[in-house]
Amino acid sequence: MKSHLSEKLYLSSPVWLQNVLVSTYGVLEHKRRYGGPHKEYLEHLLNNVMFDERQIEELQAELLEKILSDAAQTVPAYQTLGLGKSPQLSDFPLLERESIAINPESFLSNRYDKDKLLCLYTGGSSANPLKVYISPAARQKSYSFWQLFYDRMNFKVGDRKATLVGRKIQEPDNDSPPFWRYNLRDRQQLFSSYHLAEGNIAAYVDKLNNFKPKIIEGYPLSIYRLADYIVQNSIKLSFTPTGLSTSSENFTPQQRKIMETAFNCNVFDQYGSAESVVFASECEHGNMHIEPEYGLLEVLKNNGDICAEGYGELIATTLLNDAMPLIRYRIGDLGEIIQSSCSCGRASKILKELHGKVGAVVINEGRQASTAAIAIAFEYLEGVKNAQIIQNEPGRVIVKLIKRENFSPKSEDFMVWELKKMLGDSLCISVDYVDEIPPEHNGKYKMVVQNYY
Ligand SMILES: [Zn+2]
Repeated sequence: MKSHLSEKLYLSSPVWLQNVLVSTYGVLEHKRRYGGPHKEYLEHLLNNVMFDERQIEELQAELLEKILSDAAQTVPAYQTLGLGKSPQLSDFPLLERESIAINPESFLSNRYDKDKLLCLYTGGSSANPLKVYISPAARQKSYSFWQLFYDRMNFKVGDRKATLVGRKIQEPDNDSPPFWRYNLRDRQQLFSSYHLAEGNIAAYVDKLNNFKPKIIEGYPLSIYRLADYIVQNSIKLSFTPTGLSTSSENFTPQQRKIMETAFNCNVFDQYGSAESVVFASECEHGNMHIEPEYGLLEVLKNNGDICAEGYGELIATTLLNDAMPLIRYRIGDLGEIIQSSCSCGRASKILKELHGKVGAVVINEGRQASTAAIAIAFEYLEGVKNAQIIQNEPGRVIVKLIKRENFSPKSEDFMVWELKKMLGDSLCISVDYVDEIPPEHNGKYKMVVQNYY
């Protein structure tokens, strides 16, 4: 469904034809993802998965040397730096999203023919999407990392999967079921994340019970909506998935608990970006391991130092996408990198305290509260089903709340107190009780919507 024309044609087709189109697209996409070096590279990754710390370091140093040397010699944006044949990572300046947005083609290696590369658009939710190019082979390799992740849920492509991401499988204002389409090639039931209104959720749950997916994959807050409904209504599911695979959104420990209770299995969260610079995912023991062959992650501390470990703004260097090697790219998230042993046996570094986009903060008189801090303030509210904080102007926020039956006015007082504690007494807070919090136009739910800064 790449162009607007094919999307228009798809949306105007009857449901049966849409299923055929989804499956046809599924056949093509299957070939694009799992052809080429995918299988061989997956074997390579499996072979390296239990490397010790020293082996990982050596492997990464080798990959890094190659990507940096290539970048310095074949990428126009880096050629101008005059770095010679063997540059060090510290020779490269921090890379801003804006620098790429102005001229994405200047970051392409001249070893590649632009017309043979795939162009991905990132940041569909922002006004300024970024063009990122990748070679078909590197994209196939990226799916090897996905399979490595799926292995932890004992899932192979072709096992039944329910997917809840921001694909427009039906017009958002068409509120009649079915809210799902089927990709026969990969036995994947695609569910709309735009139609999760209270009145529609029972139909979703029935369909899941009938389909019995091995895993459910998608935006965590979409899966959470289903989970919350299942728990609140004490619904007994006729299947137990081997895992819930989530990515792309922040969620609270409490929301995780509800998802795990409803589906009686673990949540496995994945962290990555369409810029193809990082891939990290949770292991069986709940630690998020950074894949060393995908990209190198560093942190930018408040004092401007760039460190291999610690807490700060995440800075990523791709080791995978040699057609468009982004180096020391400010990915826009906060997190902590630690080197610690994990019971799973993997020695790769662990990403902790991963906090949403740096930009998604509420600001008042120089004080800031990140999405993660807001999430914590909301977590302890009793009788609140869902919440969202919106800032449209300085000094003022709107908090949307969906109440449960056991909601008490004390919860509102507590929330106001928490927010003022973080952001100062001068902050004007208006609370808006609503029945629904609609998703963004990309199908994701946001806890913090920052429209002003
Ligand atoms: Zn682990």
